[in-house]
Amino acid sequence: MGDLSIKLKTPHTGEYEQPTGLFINNEWVKGVDGKTFEVINPSDESVICSVHEATEKDVDIAVAAARKAFETTWKTTTPNERGRLLTKLADLFEENTELLAAVEALDNGKSVTMAKVDIANSAGCLRYYGGWADKIEGKVIDTNAETFSYTKKEPIGVCGQIIPWNFPLLMWSWKIGPAIAAGNTVVLKSAEQTPLSALVAATLIKKAGFPPGVVNIISGFGKVAGAAISAHMDIDKVAFTGSTLVGRQIMKAAAGSNLKKVTLELGGKSPNIVFDDANIDNAISWVNFGIYFNHGQCCCAGSRIYVQDTIYDKFIQRFKERASQNKVGDPFAADTFQGPQVSQLQFDRIMSYIEDGKKAGATVETGGKRKGDKGFFIEPTIFSNVTEDMKIVQEEIFGPVCTISKFSNKEEAVKLANSTTYGLAAAVHTTNLNTALEVSNALKAGTVWVNQYNMIHWSLPFGGYKSSGIGRELGEAALDNYVQVKTVSIRLGDALF
Ligand code: ADP
Repeated sequence: MGDLSIKLKTPHTGEYEQPTGLFINNEWVKGVDGKTFEVINPSDESVICSVHEATEKDVDIAVAAARKAFETTWKTTTPNERGRLLTKLADLFEENTELLAAVEALDNGKSVTMAKVDIANSAGCLRYYGGWADKIEGKVIDTNAETFSYTKKEPIGVCGQIIPWNFPLLMWSWKIGPAIAAGNTVVLKSAEQTPLSALVAATLIKKAGFPPGVVNIISGFGKVAGAAISAHMDIDKVAFTGSTLVGRQIMKAAAGSNLKKVTLELGGKSPNIVFDDANIDNAISWVNFGIYFNHGQCCCAGSRIYVQDTIYDKFIQRFKERASQNKVGDPFAADTFQGPQVSQLQFDRIMSYIEDGKKAGATVETGGKRKGDKGFFIEPTIFSNVTEDMKIVQEEIFGPVCTISKFSNKEEAVKLANSTTYGLAAAVHTTNLNTALEVSNALKAGTVWVNQYNMIHWSLPFGGYKSSGIGRELGEAALDNYVQVKTVSIRLGDALF
């Protein structure tokens, strides 16, 4: 790979070969404009390395490669073969778990233990869609005796995929799995904060045996390469995961260019409701995991906690104790639960929300400060005495910060839970089946967890109500985003019109 790779070291795996180029047509190349950008280690703020940056011209080259593959090799590849390739890719993810997890920990800052779970779920997702590849079927639809009509599910074409930095490889797999199973080709842009694992995973694309141009992986900035993808005239579909603000821009760019199909998985401000009949030990554990998993950097983070007034005092005491025990520190230490936030920008944003909450008069129950003086670490933070109009209650913080408040009955809990513009996820903790079902039915959210949190599975659709998105990822539902339905209607006999 020459100057398109570099030897890096992680405390977990020792030395490894890190690709730094753009992966286009199964080859490593530099960007046409010769630009590179630095990748920062969030644990100590040092520069890990530089990677090549894709600009508009590189997006054009990657799209041309994806178009050519779509019209030639990929078109004649059987569904069964597509499935075999995805399954092989899943196997390679598993075989390379230690390396992939270490790169994720190095670049993103998540603990290597948690990163391994991401790799297992990435492999599971890729294998799941490998299984779907030869089961994407149309229908015969009977209308009358004179015609024979059927539908076919055809791939959409070249798909642009723009992913965030919070789950670099998991988002890579959620995007590539269904697109490839359905017969599309892909140009995927990783997030500029975390390009490294996507490039290591690109080596596995080639190793698995995908034909050139089917999956292209580029590193680059949102305003440059991301904008070029969403406005491209030869991309047929764009799939995006990220902020609601950018989601709107992508939709506008799609509408202003070739009306490419759009799916969006956006932000959230998800409610986590605890009734007084819940198993309190379990509820505390899931509420803690709901907000602090992945350092609060989850679009579905349970950031608004509502506890029934009858158990509120006991709950908050125990939750405080639990949150302050979360081990925050080095992602490569075996017992670390929470690593650094991903970047200086995210760190500053979160700290300014914390300051805003303090100024607005909310009480800091625990945390509320930076941890240490190097790296982007923030203490797990709980705010109480909040009012619904506060920014910390309404806006997505994307960090280890939650608010906790009381409710007195089911109706009030539902009203509070539904009172933001978001609707990605929600949870209810109760041992009463009626409460669980009534509240689940009333919540305006794409996923409702009962007596658990963050338990996403590749077989279960995931996506947003309201401003949390358009379309569903995962499960059979995700395939709908990557096919277009063709109706063929055949006249029988010689009837004339
Ligand atoms: P965050 O604010 O958490 O970094 P973003 O929504 O800005 O989240 O970023 C998610 C992804 O969207 C990244 O890959 C980023 O490069 C990309 N992105 C950011 N701005 C744009 C844009 N204007 N057009 C297309 N993609 C963008």
